Amino acid sequence: MSLKRNSLIIHGGVDGDETTGAVNIPIYQTSTYKQDGLGENRGWEYSRTGNPTRDALEKLIADLEEGKYGLAFASGLAAINTVLSLFKSGDKLVVSSNIYGGTFRILDNVFKNFGITYEIVDTSDEEAVEQAIDSDVKAVYVESPANPLLTVTDIEAVAKIAHKHNLLLIVDNTFLTPYLQRPLSLGADIVIHSGTKYLGGHSDTVSGLVVVKDEKLADRLYYLQNSIGGVLPPFDSFLIIRGIKTLGVRMDRHQENATKIAKWLQESPYIEKVYYPGLESDEGYEIQKKQADGGGAMISFVLKPEYDYRVFFKSLKLITLAESLGGVESLVCHPASMTHAAIPREIREKVGIVDELIRFSVGIEDAEDLILDLEQAILASKKG
Ligand SMILES: *Cc1c(COP(=O)(O)O)cnc(C)c1O
Repeated sequence: MSLKRNSLIIHGGVDGDETTGAVNIPIYQTSTYKQDGLGENRGWEYSRTGNPTRDALEKLIADLEEGKYGLAFASGLAAINTVLSLFKSGDKLVVSSNIYGGTFRILDNVFKNFGITYEIVDTSDEEAVEQAIDSDVKAVYVESPANPLLTVTDIEAVAKIAHKHNLLLIVDNTFLTPYLQRPLSLGADIVIHSGTKYLGGHSDTVSGLVVVKDEKLADRLYYLQNSIGGVLPPFDSFLIIRGIKTLGVRMDRHQENATKIAKWLQESPYIEKVYYPGLESDEGYEIQKKQADGGGAMISFVLKPEYDYRVFFKSLKLITLAESLGGVESLVCHPASMTHAAIPREIREKVGIVDELIRFSVGIEDAEDLILDLEQAILASKKG
């Protein structure tokens, strides 16, 4: 039976425990498995290679992303590390401008040392993508909407360009989750998640996920997952499965709140600029509407010069200043000194990550309370 989205969230992957009938997948807290004889096992050998709890999560995310093969890692960056290990010295990647700071850091300070290079391109500009491709380029790496300016890339259009040149298209889908956007169905080859964010949803577990459709690519990734070893433990796999069960209802509320708050910010007298692809006035709105089921729940904004962003952060009472995003509680951060501090100032400012930029991960509290908190903090931050 082919299930609709919300049913798939609850029943996708491995639906319950075959052995006992438990409706939840047990936490198989074991490192190894009894072998009945030499070369005879029951499908499990060693938990770095495979674990039933992790396997249930891997199958679930594969179903949700409309892919075939899922892989779970100890963090989003462990997932990214494994995907980048597909490449070899001399290979080059074309990468979206304003990607997650940690992704930039691993490219710039880890993989560059192994001779894998990158070129930062505004992937919302298809001509720029086309122009950046030379014979060394092996993949295009996109975040859409990209962190923290919520720049939207047309995934279908970039997939066409990538495939014309025999390149892989890798999409980080952390900001929207498969509930709102399914990049594999838009032509991407590899989808990456930080499961730490909306998939887990409760700011209590660090994790990463990868999904692909192609069997050969999957075989290589499983080989790398087992060789590198950054796998997600059984208990954390259970927590991410548990988090995903409420993904649909959470994302609906996250998005409803974000829409109200983005409109309020835009109409308020305090704001220089709002970035939210769910607003009709946003540059990415049309493409976002075409490829996703809404604008998501991440908003970035710049206060007018008469307000001091440092005082604003200090004055918030309900909304928490913290790294991360996608939890039930509202979080704000200062990209220039926090999530994107790894990016050199010249590059940061060139792409628009100015010191005054504030990123808001809208939680599922009452939107009215969030707006009251924003307004009192903005008013408290008025200079002189
Ligand atoms: C957080 C994040 C990552 C990194 O994931 P971790 O779980 O923190 O390792 C990668 N991409 C995006 C878009 C993120 O927000």
